[in-house]
Amino acid sequence: MSNLIDSSATRITPRRREAAALPDMDSSNSASTLVIAGRIPTVAPQDYVLEARQIAKVYRKGRHEVPVLSDCDFQAQRGQVTAILGQSGSGKSTLLHLLGTLDTPDEGEIYFEGKRIDNLARRKRDRFRNCQLGMIFQFYHLLPEITTLQNVLMPIMIQQGLFSYWRHRVAHRMRAQELLERVGLGHRLTHRPRELSGGEMQRAAIARALIGQPQLLLADEPTGNLDRETGQHILKLLLELNRERGLTIVLVTHDESIADDCDRVIRLEDGRIVA
Ligand code: ADP
Ligand code: MG
Repeated sequence: MSNLIDSSATRITPRRREAAALPDMDSSNSASTLVIAGRIPTVAPQDYVLEARQIAKVYRKGRHEVPVLSDCDFQAQRGQVTAILGQSGSGKSTLLHLLGTLDTPDEGEIYFEGKRIDNLARRKRDRFRNCQLGMIFQFYHLLPEITTLQNVLMPIMIQQGLFSYWRHRVAHRMRAQELLERVGLGHRLTHRPRELSGGEMQRAAIARALIGQPQLLLADEPTGNLDRETGQHILKLLLELNRERGLTIVLVTHDESIADDCDRVIRLEDGRIVA
């Protein structure tokens, strides 16, 4: 049977309740999440930026098979922050990698803005990732030998090619600098990653993810390697970017407290989406 993410099973978080001006049904503990028994209004299909239908993924190692996802349906609504919660090993990264076309599912289909993306040819897939998608990871994945500013510019260089990049380099640099200032790193433009703190590296990675002006940001445990306070600052920054730019964010995490600040929360258990 399909693990449809039924809206009746979706937790309504304090942030979403605030946005929808829903009454506080649990005033004794307003910080806690709320389970609404009834359905929230159905979202028109065109409002799904990202949709996965019936995905399955099995890793194969020699004769061994590791089933990770099965019958997995997922939707990300435009302009919302969706958290995918699950314990270590539950398949969160696998799902995010499939959504970001870093890997392909064994079964099922994935759609971005109504267009299928899981079966794109390599060039189209690379272009999709470069133009429509921003990704951030637990360990930042910055290039160690180049500066913060150059790391942020790298996706533009790849997207445009060196010649076109060079012609517009002043504008690109200004944009990268503006983004770095927005994420609070305007004073670290020429630092290399090893000269930055964990929180600063994640800020640089966020700026790099946004340089191509994506509609969608996929975040894999973005606070997983940070202390609690720094993690809170990063989450706050992501929520601000969501509100300022209408950026759709899908964030996987095992941290229950993060989920309360998101619009929508779904859970993965043993590779299956559960209520
Ligand atoms: P999570 O991100 O929730 O911690 P993952 O998606 O990384 O979980 O992994 C889910 C399961 O798949 C784990 O049991 C992991 O060991 C296994 N796995 C992940 N990547 C591979 C791989 N490339 N080959 C074989 N097994 C893998
Ligand atoms: Mg993971």
